[in-house]
Amino acid sequence: GKHRHKGTVEDCCCDYETVDHLNGEVLHPILQELVKTPFFGYYKVKLWCDCPFWPEDHMCRLRDCSVCECPESEFPDSFKPFQRTLSSGDLKCREGKPQAAVDRTLDSKAFRGWTETDNPWTYDDETDNCESEFVINSFLFTVFAAEMTYVNLQLNPERYTGYNGTSARRIWDAVYSGNCPKYPAEELCQEEKILYKLISGLHSSISVHIASDYLIDEATNLWGHNLEIMYYRVLQYPNRVENLYFTFLFVLRAVTKAAEYLEQAEYDTGNPTEDLKTQSLMKQLLYDPKLQAACPLPFDEAKLWKGRRGPELKQKIQAQFKNISAVMDCVGCEKCRLWGKLQVSGLGTALKILFSVNDEENLIQILQLQRNEVIALMNLLNRLSESVKFVHEMGAAAEMGRMHY
Ligand code: FAD
Repeated sequence: GKHRHKGTVEDCCCDYETVDHLNGEVLHPILQELVKTPFFGYYKVKLWCDCPFWPEDHMCRLRDCSVCECPESEFPDSFKPFQRTLSSGDLKCREGKPQAAVDRTLDSKAFRGWTETDNPWTYDDETDNCESEFVINSFLFTVFAAEMTYVNLQLNPERYTGYNGTSARRIWDAVYSGNCPKYPAEELCQEEKILYKLISGLHSSISVHIASDYLIDEATNLWGHNLEIMYYRVLQYPNRVENLYFTFLFVLRAVTKAAEYLEQAEYDTGNPTEDLKTQSLMKQLLYDPKLQAACPLPFDEAKLWKGRRGPELKQKIQAQFKNISAVMDCVGCEKCRLWGKLQVSGLGTALKILFSVNDEENLIQILQLQRNEVIALMNLLNRLSESVKFVHEMGAAAEMGRMHY
């Protein structure tokens, strides 16, 4: 049970030791701070489970209310509802938790300075009009499609929830087989392989978070590491570890590629002290000299879509990813759905940054990111960074013989 990855991460430009070192020294500490700022700490999401694929699954029609939402008094001033379009009476969480019964209708003010342009790689909660596409129950759908909530991500960490069995398996199967060809098949072209690796890397990261924050003893409500799960689901498969590192580098590349854009973006939440801190942390991360010296190009996207089939292939993979993004609405556990949606949206944002604009010189003029996309992107990077750190530490522990599986 050893994580002994050496050399360069396949399809990437930096080696494992460098990634572990940079992550530990620079990326992980900055990201941990960054995700606690008010700008990055609240995610706007539609938590209703509007699954278009398995309409017979009735559990997936209502909210299960396991996600603790923000009471209105908590989220930053500039996020507050500007105008209510729906009365909160219709929107009560079905379990009737009073703290979840607040209607958080969107606020146009919060999105000042940010685009609402659709991402061609994902289904977006707010901008897509799903009614015409998948009518399951037109009444429910019309009402619920409009409801977005703000979630305090710090209060809802991704961890063990007990979600498994056929529902979870069905999602992973759909994500891998329906949407993304199996790997390794020799005839797979590089681009398809990369989509597979991104999903597998995310899957590894989710498993690592389950293992690192596990309900060890239900009776005493004791939480802690579950190293068996860590080993049996991730560490014993070199490819899963490798794909985690790959996904981390891929997303890191997207973030640094968009550095200029992200540096100039609007991080206003109405709290000048906090917002300055957000901006300063972003700058530290985007222009860290150690990162630039040791791993200036974490992933080289210019190598892709080169062949004659390039444009056609890109469209195909875009459609595949869009499906993966839609499948996230079918995840039958609310907290898993929250993090599934956030992280897939983060990956979609990375894909958009890396592949929507060919001309790097003009990236800042052409690129348009939604506020929520940037929140998803940075929170995803933080999650991957946590997973890489945990895998590295567990690997090191195993090498020193301190750990037995
Ligand atoms: P699963 O993790 O369900 O894996 C299914 C199959 O996929 C495996 O048998 C294997 O063949 C393959 N596989 C596994 N890992 C990889 C990989 N890295 N790369 C390639 N193939 C792989 N549970 C929680 O407790 N908390 C959560 O926050 C959470 N979030 C989730 C989010 C999503 C989007 C989904 C779909 C599920 C989530 N789950 C969560 C459930 C969790 O991921 C597992 O499905 C569940 O714990 C059962 O695990 P398992 O051992 O059966 O294997």
